[in-house]
Amino acid sequence: MKETVLTIAVPCYNEEEVFDTTYAHLKDVLHNLIDEDLVSEKSQLLFIDDGSKDSTWEKIEAACRLDSYVSGIKLSRNFGHQKALLSGLEEAAKFSDCVISIDADLQDDTTVIKEFVIQYLNGFDVVYGVRSKRETDSFFKRTTAEGFYKLMGKLGLSLVYNHADYRLLSKRALTEMLRFQETNLFLRGIVPLLGFKSTKVYYERKAREAGESKYPLAKMLAFAFDGLTSFSVKPIRFITIIGFLSFFISFIAGAYVLIEKFMGDTESGWASLMISIWLIGGLLLMSIGLIGEYIGKIYEEVKQRPRYIIEHNLCPKRTEEKPKTKVHA
Ligand code: UDP
Ligand code: MG
Repeated sequence: MKETVLTIAVPCYNEEEVFDTTYAHLKDVLHNLIDEDLVSEKSQLLFIDDGSKDSTWEKIEAACRLDSYVSGIKLSRNFGHQKALLSGLEEAAKFSDCVISIDADLQDDTTVIKEFVIQYLNGFDVVYGVRSKRETDSFFKRTTAEGFYKLMGKLGLSLVYNHADYRLLSKRALTEMLRFQETNLFLRGIVPLLGFKSTKVYYERKAREAGESKYPLAKMLAFAFDGLTSFSVKPIRFITIIGFLSFFISFIAGAYVLIEKFMGDTESGWASLMISIWLIGGLLLMSIGLIGEYIGKIYEEVKQRPRYIIEHNLCPKRTEEKPKTKVHA
């Protein structure tokens, strides 16, 4: 019998519409792995409720009560996908040998989970799920997402292209990851920094099973910006370079203005003056804003606030007394 305890961690925010399907589906996947003797009987599905306003938690709680293969965590409010996932990983690290994270909408193909586990058993600490196609995403989502990966690469943050948060981490990799204490969490930026032996498994991304995307454009942009400023100081350097450039150009412009003045054509300077004021004003505001963004980040980090707060924890460690009944739904 295999001793590898696998936990599949699923963050859920207002996912009552997909929960039942997701649960039934992942349960099948897990039982198949157990039956094939790839993972241990103690393996778990861990659902993290990220402060949902609908009945998501009630559903998770009921599943935990009825099924010994299910664990649940309820965060005290909505902390966002990354932190919800982190809370799940941190808990799972206490009782699992490896953890797979997957979104509740099952857009990521679950048939490759087996491949993840096989790669883990082959000795890989990190297995990235990489989307080979994005045909079911809208054109807009696809181009913005791909543009984002390219931009990040140019700015010096090495991300795995077309990989989101669908991955397997070994206990060892997880333990190291939890030592990254930043509040501004961008897990897919941190994982490549861990090192260890890693590999990629390709799959096709599907459309959402039900419910709506919890990442509307504004949230997506905020996430991209967060990722960028948490990992790269290049934008600040870029601003400094623009500053030097405009300083240099202003010398040339100054010389030109003086010549114009001595030639007696002073009014002609009005247009260029107006343009410069706007240009420089804009650059200054932009620079201050960007620097402010980093100062804001520093401010958030130095406060060292807890990254999430757990209200209920129905994970194996704390629920020793939980009846071990296997229920087939
Ligand atoms: N999610 C979460 N907290 C949030 C927003 C989203 O835990 O504040 C979860 C959500 O339930 C889902 C996953 O994060 O399991 C990814 O969200 P979604 O599928 O809406 O994003 P998309 O795939 O559209 O980028
Ligand atoms: Mg999704």
